Amino acid sequence: MRLVVLGGGESGVGTAILGKKKGYEVFVSDFGKIKNNYKEVLLLHKIKFEDEQHTEELILNADVVMKSPGIPDKAPIIKKLKEKNIPVISEIEFTNQFTDAVTVGITGSNGKTTTTMLTYHLLKQGGLNVGLAGNIGKSFAWQVSEDKHEVYVLELSSFQLDGIINYKPHIAIITNISPDHLDRYNYNYDEYIASKFRITMNQTEDDYLIYDDDDQAIKNWLKNNKTRAKLIPFSLTKQFETGAYETENNININTSNDPFVMPTSHLSLEGKHNVKNALAASSVAQLLKIRKATIRESLSDFQGVEHRLEKVLKIQNVQYINDSKATNVNATFFALDSMTGPTVWIVGGVDKGNDYTELMALVNEKVKAIICLGIDNKKIIEAFADVVDILVEVGSMTEAVRQAYKIAEKGDTVLLSPACASFDLFENYEDRGRQFKQAVQNL
Ligand code: ADP
Repeated sequence: MRLVVLGGGESGVGTAILGKKKGYEVFVSDFGKIKNNYKEVLLLHKIKFEDEQHTEELILNADVVMKSPGIPDKAPIIKKLKEKNIPVISEIEFTNQFTDAVTVGITGSNGKTTTTMLTYHLLKQGGLNVGLAGNIGKSFAWQVSEDKHEVYVLELSSFQLDGIINYKPHIAIITNISPDHLDRYNYNYDEYIASKFRITMNQTEDDYLIYDDDDQAIKNWLKNNKTRAKLIPFSLTKQFETGAYETENNININTSNDPFVMPTSHLSLEGKHNVKNALAASSVAQLLKIRKATIRESLSDFQGVEHRLEKVLKIQNVQYINDSKATNVNATFFALDSMTGPTVWIVGGVDKGNDYTELMALVNEKVKAIICLGIDNKKIIEAFADVVDILVEVGSMTEAVRQAYKIAEKGDTVLLSPACASFDLFENYEDRGRQFKQAVQNL
């Protein structure tokens, strides 16, 4: 069997190694540049590859193709493969054939990484032989090639899910759904929602689907479509016989007949969105029979993830928070919602068709100044010029932080939560977050 791997990044290289181990003839092709460390690995495993080109004769000769998640369906090479009816699958689908491990698959528009890391933390502390993969860290394929774990917690983007055929997680989580990446879905929100729900399409009665019952898009889908999985809803406003919810400042996890209760204030992560993430992750832990004492301890000592409402420093009693990963309005909504005092808000970047009306009430209530950090700030200025007293435009992160420092007074918070992509002024959201932290350190 000939396996062609398109994309020579983490998931591509992992798939190539696994494919080779399983007896495939493997060829890796990347239209961009393959990083040197990956090239070395491919050479070491005697896997053929090319970069900065796609040699069509070699690619269109495949029996099966693994497409890395970054490559859009619109790419000419994918169109040609589809015309020839050659199966194009994702790393998760390819890898799934070679492992009996239990998988927890986590998708959603926001909160995937946080929920994935928290779930992993709970299961690991619970003593399971668990791996972390998907969009995070070492690829699933690579870890399975090394036969590493009995359980995997997988962060699954919609692009990973688009390329599945038979894969099903034993436990699926859909954290929430709001418009994102619509450029890859013909600007059709329903297509994007359908893509997220592929996570449950192969699930059976033995499997679970954990989802946000307060989320309208999720509720609508469940009303109009079917899944065979057992449903575990979570909510901040409702209670369930089977499900997870918050009441009177406690979180309640009720997936079995041995309920778990814990004060919300004992969670290490702040913000309502993180209560939701904790409800989802603890439901997994309970379904996999992790001890209550371990769940309790792990929820209160989890360290959080870099660039997600990350506390950087307190200077002259002003707290600086890095939420650079907030690349859409919904994520920023929860960041602003969790602010407890007057906030100097650094916002802007590449607009993804943002609608800021959702933020208006929060900005009115909490934001004392807006610092626009983007090449084009027109929409932000139009939306908020009349709502805040101070609004300034800056051209760099250093300037943004200096302005924030000048404006902020004792007790205030300076929040970087851009609600936009970062590619105008930064390499990516990590670069943006690091520059913020550096600029704060320099104060
Ligand atoms: P993802 O991997 O889905 O992008 P992250 O955990 O990296 O999610 O968080 C992305 C952004 O969304 C961060 O700014 C974070 O503070 C915010 N966020 C985290 N969890 C949620 C949630 N459940 N709902 C809305 N926003 C969230």
